[in-house]
Amino acid sequence: MSSSFSNLAHELEQIKLQSLYRSRRLISSPQGVEIEIDDQQVINFSSNDYLGLANHPEVINAFKKATDEYGVGSGSAHLICGHSRSHQALEEELADFTGRDRALLFSTGYMANIGVISALLNRGDQVFEDRLNHASLLDGGLLSGAKFKRYRHSDINDLQRKMLHTEGRKLIVTDGVFSMDGDLAVLPELTRLAKDKNAWLMIDDAHGISVLGATGGGILQHYGLTQQDVPVLMATLGKGFGTFGAFVAGSEVLVETLIQKARTYVFTTAMPAAVAEATRTSLKLVITDGWRREVLRLRLERFRSGAEQLGLKLMQTDSAIQPLLIGDSQRAVDISNDLLKQGFLVSAIRPPTVPKGEARLRITFSANHREQHVDQLLDALDTVAL
Ligand SMILES: *Cc1c(COP(=O)(O)O)cnc(C)c1O
Repeated sequence: MSSSFSNLAHELEQIKLQSLYRSRRLISSPQGVEIEIDDQQVINFSSNDYLGLANHPEVINAFKKATDEYGVGSGSAHLICGHSRSHQALEEELADFTGRDRALLFSTGYMANIGVISALLNRGDQVFEDRLNHASLLDGGLLSGAKFKRYRHSDINDLQRKMLHTEGRKLIVTDGVFSMDGDLAVLPELTRLAKDKNAWLMIDDAHGISVLGATGGGILQHYGLTQQDVPVLMATLGKGFGTFGAFVAGSEVLVETLIQKARTYVFTTAMPAAVAEATRTSLKLVITDGWRREVLRLRLERFRSGAEQLGLKLMQTDSAIQPLLIGDSQRAVDISNDLLKQGFLVSAIRPPTVPKGEARLRITFSANHREQHVDQLLDALDTVAL
């Protein structure tokens, strides 16, 4: 026992030597564009609360009111006695919102992805994943026991080559908006290929839902794609929705299959009903407050044109994620620390979250950022050694 733990200590040292050691900062304020973290007041450019709903008064009120009605804990899994009227109502509203037959809540996005892929595939089937997919999708693919193939990022030709072998069920899985690059999946091409190859297509729209599309319907609304084009839609509630949890939406048969077979659905406690109620309110705001998406777009434009003037190289994307590629992990960390000293929280993203040699600053925007915040960040970026 003790010797194996000294191995662990050695591993930790190695992680430190590679500038890959991670530690947590203590936050002592609500989530927002100005937060207090490690006793310092900072302007926050690292949150996924894209629409500024995590601390919205109406969302908070809905949560509080629901705790009067339901208390805090849900007490059990959905299939035992944890599925409240609030959960049911939220599922129906999410189905409506996404234009799908049914929606099913999961307690987290990580669990949704693992549950769905494992429920749909068995040994003898095949799963095809974009190399840059979120860890939960990759883990889901590996755990499913299906033959696991990764294709080059958004490379349809590479995917096509990997799909030559035809046995078993085939599932293509991709992030909608790639979480560390901010670019959009090439969905029109993917849907065509999926139809051509008689494969199922699954989209994880954690970073597109609420942000993209006229009413926040996400990447599928952005491209005008339906349940027939993309049978499996997964999205999370802890990012643009500002609450917690996730859902999968699709056909009656898909959702009933998940209720029977997705182990991360069956064997876990339901999210608190109050979280579901808070999310119902946040869903209303996502749909009605189109101005949040508009303001977010304006801030992104301001940042992108300012960055261009500074000669900074950004990737081409309309999403709220604007990464600045640095390369070396230690340099990314140093720059992030420099920015923090100046009062800006911008996270350095390092391997294994991104490929080796591709460490970056991941700058994210919120509808609650003011023009001044963006200008101040640009000034700060101008002073650090990029
Ligand atoms: C955040 C994220 C998840 C995980 O969702 P959680 O609800 O945080 O567990 C899954 N997929 C993608 C693309 C994500 O960005």
